[in-house]
Amino acid sequence: MSVAENIIAFKSSLPENVTLVAVSKTKPAQAIMDAYNTGHRVFGENKVQELTEKWETLPKDIEWHLIGHLQRNKVKYIAPFVHLIHAVDSLKLLEEINKQGEKNNRIIPCLFQIKIAEEDSKFGMSAEEAKNLLESTAFKGLSHVCIKGLMGMATFTDDTRQISEEFEKLERLYQELKDRYGFEYLSMGMSGDYEIALQHGSNMIRVGSALFGERNYH
Ligand SMILES: *Cc1c(COP(=O)(O)O)cnc(C)c1O
Repeated sequence: MSVAENIIAFKSSLPENVTLVAVSKTKPAQAIMDAYNTGHRVFGENKVQELTEKWETLPKDIEWHLIGHLQRNKVKYIAPFVHLIHAVDSLKLLEEINKQGEKNNRIIPCLFQIKIAEEDSKFGMSAEEAKNLLESTAFKGLSHVCIKGLMGMATFTDDTRQISEEFEKLERLYQELKDRYGFEYLSMGMSGDYEIALQHGSNMIRVGSALFGERNYH
């Protein structure tokens, strides 16, 4: 199937309240335009430089999500246009996003990345750290960021029970915090595990290879 056919079929299978972030990392502009021409507007990238280059050359009504780890010194490149930053995991990063938001005269929407996987390599805060941050005076003083919800990545494994337990942890935290902080998005689920994520209340899935085909890294 073509990218266009994939995206149409995929979206028609999703509940209406679920946002599909089409993860276009490593894929050429043409593949993105194939998806765009079906009416899709929400795309995700995990590298700042690639995101910025694609933003410059592709239609300006695309909503660009940064889904990968973000270094503080690179926030300035995406601050003028980024639609949602998924992987905020420290006050220091949030302060830099706030500073760049102020410079660009906008409030930048963000998600807190929560560590739910077993592997050490995954970034993210603990539930405790996220709660403390949300209640801190330092956070309350930041007027140019808005925390829209939570994001998490499950362990990369075939053990669906483990994946399910990890997503359930994040679902519980999201339910606990959602009303108090006005959260709208629970970003969890990728090509291999989005069905499990949807069972646990995800309303934003980040899907790459199932739409665009496998990625070739070199
Ligand atoms: C690459 C990536 C995805 C999409 O992965 P697929 O397995 O291709 O669907 C989702 N989230 C993050 C953070 C990623 O880096």
